[in-house]
Amino acid sequence: MAKEEKEIKCSFCGRTKKDSEILIAGITGHICNHCVAQAQTIVRDEVSQRSNNSVFSGIHLLKPIEIKKHLDEYIIGQDDAKKTISVAVYNHYKRLMQNSAKTPAKDEIEIEKSNVIMVGETGTGKTLLARTIAKILNVPFCIADATVLTEAGYVGEDVESILARLLQAAEYDVTAAERGIVFIDEIDKIARKSDNPSITRDVSGEGVQQGLLKLLEGSVVGVPPQGGRKHPEQKLVQVNTKNILFICGGAFDGISRHIGNRLNTQAIGYSVNKEEEVVDKENLLQYISPQDIKSFGLIPELIGRLPVLTYLNPLDADTLRRILSEPKNALIKQYTYLFEMDGVKITFEKGVLDLIVEKALEFKLGARGLRSICEAIMTDLMFETPSEEGVKAVNVTLRYAKDKLKKSTLNKLKVA
Ligand code: ADP
Repeated sequence: MAKEEKEIKCSFCGRTKKDSEILIAGITGHICNHCVAQAQTIVRDEVSQRSNNSVFSGIHLLKPIEIKKHLDEYIIGQDDAKKTISVAVYNHYKRLMQNSAKTPAKDEIEIEKSNVIMVGETGTGKTLLARTIAKILNVPFCIADATVLTEAGYVGEDVESILARLLQAAEYDVTAAERGIVFIDEIDKIARKSDNPSITRDVSGEGVQQGLLKLLEGSVVGVPPQGGRKHPEQKLVQVNTKNILFICGGAFDGISRHIGNRLNTQAIGYSVNKEEEVVDKENLLQYISPQDIKSFGLIPELIGRLPVLTYLNPLDADTLRRILSEPKNALIKQYTYLFEMDGVKITFEKGVLDLIVEKALEFKLGARGLRSICEAIMTDLMFETPSEEGVKAVNVTLRYAKDKLKKSTLNKLKVA
C-alpha cells in the first residue's frame, strides 16, 4: 500500500502548498510567502515606532575623546577646534537625553543648546569638520550658504529653505531631521555693514540675522518640502529646530584687526604677568572672543545663540603636506587607489609633494587648492595610463610635475 503523503501547510495561516506561491521549510514547520510579507510589515512598523520614540535611534553617541579621535582620522591639525566641537556635540546630545527623559531632571538644570561658530580662513577645514561630525554621529547633515539668504519676501532664499535642505538630507524623515546638523557657511557675509542703522533696509545683513535667530532659538517652522515659493500649493511640513545643532563658519576677513585692537586696549592699566604678555601676533585668531564677532557686525542676539566659539588655524606648509598624504581619504591615497584599480603602482619623486604645497600656499586657498594642483599634474597620466598595455608602474618626477603645472591654466587661481 502506497504511503499517503502528509499535506504540507503553512504553520501560521494553514494555506496549503497549492494556495501559496512559496512555502519555506523550517525545522519543525513551514511558512508561506503571504505570512512572510505580513511578518515583514509587522517588524518594520514595530522598529520604526520604537525608533520614533527615541531621539537617539541610529545616532552613534561617542565620548568627546572618541569623537576627536575619529576627527583626527580625517582632519589634520586644528586641535582646538576639534576639541571644542567634540565637547559641544557631546553636550548637545546629553541635552537631548535630558529632554527626552520621561521624568524631568531632578535638579531642573536646563542644559542650553551648544550651537557653534567657527572662524577661520577659507579652506582650513570648517566644512570638513562639520561634515565629519555628522558622519560620525550618523545624523542628517546639510550645508547652507548664508550669502544666498534674504529676508522673507525678498528675492533670494528664505531662511526656511535651510530646513528644506535638511529635510531632504533626512529623506523627509522629520524626526531624523529634527536632530540633524546644519552647517551655515559664510556667516560673516551677513554681518551688518555699519554700526549706523540706515533708513534703507539691510536686506542681506541684519534682516537675515534676525531670521536666523528664529531657527537657532528653537521654534517650530513651516517648511515647504520641495523648497521655495515656486509651489505655493504644497503643504508645509512642521519642523522643530529645538534639537538641531547649528554650526556656523566664516572667514571673517580682517577680524584680526579687531582682535589686535582689543588686546592692545585691554593691556592698558592692567598688570599682566610675564607669561600672558606674549601674544602670538602671527595668529591672532586664537584669541577671538564674542566681542570681536560683535564688532565685525553680527548682532548680539545671534552671537548669544552661538555660544561655542572656536577658530581654525591658517594652514602652514607642514600641515598642507600632511593633508596631502595622511587623512583617511588623503588625495595621494586616492590617486594611488585609482591607479591600483588599473593594476598600476604610482609613486611620487621626492619634491613633488613639496611643489604641490608650495603652489597651494601661493594660491592662498588653503587645502582647497591642493586638489586642483594635483589634478593639473595627474590628469594626463590618468587619461593615458589605462590604455597603455603592460604599464605596471608610474613614477611622477619633479620635472614632469613642474612641466604640467607650467602648462596648466592654474595660475588663474592665484589670489592677488
Ligand atoms: P572651509 O570650509 O574652511 O573653507 P573646507 O572644509 O571646505 O574649508 O576644506 C576644503 C578641503 O580642503 C576639504 O574638503 C579637505 O579636503 C581639505 N582640508 C581643509 N582643511 C583640512 C584639514 N585640516 N585636514 C584635512 N583636510 C583639510
